Amino acid sequence: MNILKQTALNLFENALAKEGTILAIRAWNPATFFELDVHFPVLDMSGWDRVQHMKVKVAPGLYRDYTPAGWDVETRTCTLYINAMQEGPGSDWVRSLNTGDKITYVGVGATMHRPVEGGDMIALGDMTTIGHYLALQQLAGSKNITGAIAIEEENHRAEFMEYFNWNIQPVAQTDQGGFHALTNWARKKDFNHATVYVAGHIPSCGHLRKELKKSDCDTVRVQGFWS
Ligand SMILES: Cc1cc2nc3c(=O)[nH]c(=O)nc-3n(C[C@H](O)[C@H](O)[C@H](O)COP(=O)(O)OP(=O)(O)OC[C@H]3O[C@@H](n4cnc5c(N)ncnc54)[C@H](O)[C@@H]3O)c2cc1C
Repeated sequence: MNILKQTALNLFENALAKEGTILAIRAWNPATFFELDVHFPVLDMSGWDRVQHMKVKVAPGLYRDYTPAGWDVETRTCTLYINAMQEGPGSDWVRSLNTGDKITYVGVGATMHRPVEGGDMIALGDMTTIGHYLALQQLAGSKNITGAIAIEEENHRAEFMEYFNWNIQPVAQTDQGGFHALTNWARKKDFNHATVYVAGHIPSCGHLRKELKKSDCDTVRVQGFWS
């Protein structure tokens, strides 16, 4: 990075960056998926009515989006669920973290996804969307979300079942974004009067939307994450 770019970046970070502290880290087995409990002392979570995402610094000048889930307005804590199956600065960063480390973030914003009052809510995505749908479930309160998350590792599917008391089920991922597993799961379902939420791998989200629109699905809400 040249000096001019570094200086501009420092100014930007000094103006916007805020910090959180990692309270606990849980790695799934194999250790390619992580849960981070974080305290964000200056983050006001009280107005969240849509699923949020935060821009987290993962290397000098590099930011990745992650989703705060399981937030507590009083203690200003939440959990980030981070996939690290791929090789990238974000996955390198999460693998290097320890309890007590600081997290730098430069902003929190709303996604397109929020609960609906009428009809069923159905969620489809890959492992990057676990936090996103836990956040949607938190916003939906007692209304149960159903759906499927594509997960490649058999033991991660077992851990998913063990850790979450949820009507969203894990399905065996066979391609990059889980498109085939999610489509097979969706074929057996009735989507009449349902809102279907699709998130994760952007090309798979597009293909899934097309498949769902061919069926009796009323509303599909897509939030692409990565490609
Ligand atoms: C609104 C929003 C919310 C998000 N929330 C979360 C979240 O809570 N948890 C989370 O884990 N991710 C989340 N993501 C996705 C995350 O920001 C991206 O996956 C990010 O690009 C990963 O960064 P990286 O540096 O590890 O890999 P990158 O440098 O971005 O990519 C490296 C390579 O890996 C591939 N790749 C990237 N992601 C994946 C993947 N998941 N599986 C397989 N290959 C991949 C890319 O195609 C590329 O070839 C969110 C994204 C958005 C837009």
